[in-house]
Amino acid sequence: MSEQKDGCCTTGAGAGDTCCGSGAPTLIVACSGGSNAGQVSNGIMIELDRKGLGKAYCLAGIGAALSGFIESAKAARTVVVDGCPTGCAKKAFEKYGIEPSLYFVVTDLGIAKAHNFDKLPEETGVAMKAVLEKL
Ligand code: SF4
Repeated sequence: MSEQKDGCCTTGAGAGDTCCGSGAPTLIVACSGGSNAGQVSNGIMIELDRKGLGKAYCLAGIGAALSGFIESAKAARTVVVDGCPTGCAKKAFEKYGIEPSLYFVVTDLGIAKAHNFDKLPEETGVAMKAVLEKL
């Protein structure tokens, strides 16, 4: 097994300090769960990144208790998107005393949770519109 520091990108100087070492001012975190709502949260994260409103970030790194991810999240402004009220991403943050700067729950944005991925583009569009109105 290779020895790597626990950051998002593990090559080059600074790896392990921030996701890709770029010191992103706003990190966007999604639960990316195994339901339509979870995957809509993932789609919102990607769309916000593509619009330049922040940088998609790895919740799994925080969930895995990797120090580089936790410290970067503590130092950043964070937008957290959960799929449903279970709030897995928010709870992962709470474990380390991190309060999201902005918090969204997909099921509060007009999307019903189901294990059905047939309408992800449409559902992501509906939820994204609601997020943009609140940013
Ligand atoms: S917040 Fe809801 S959708 Fe997201 S991972 Fe947790 S249970 Fe799944």
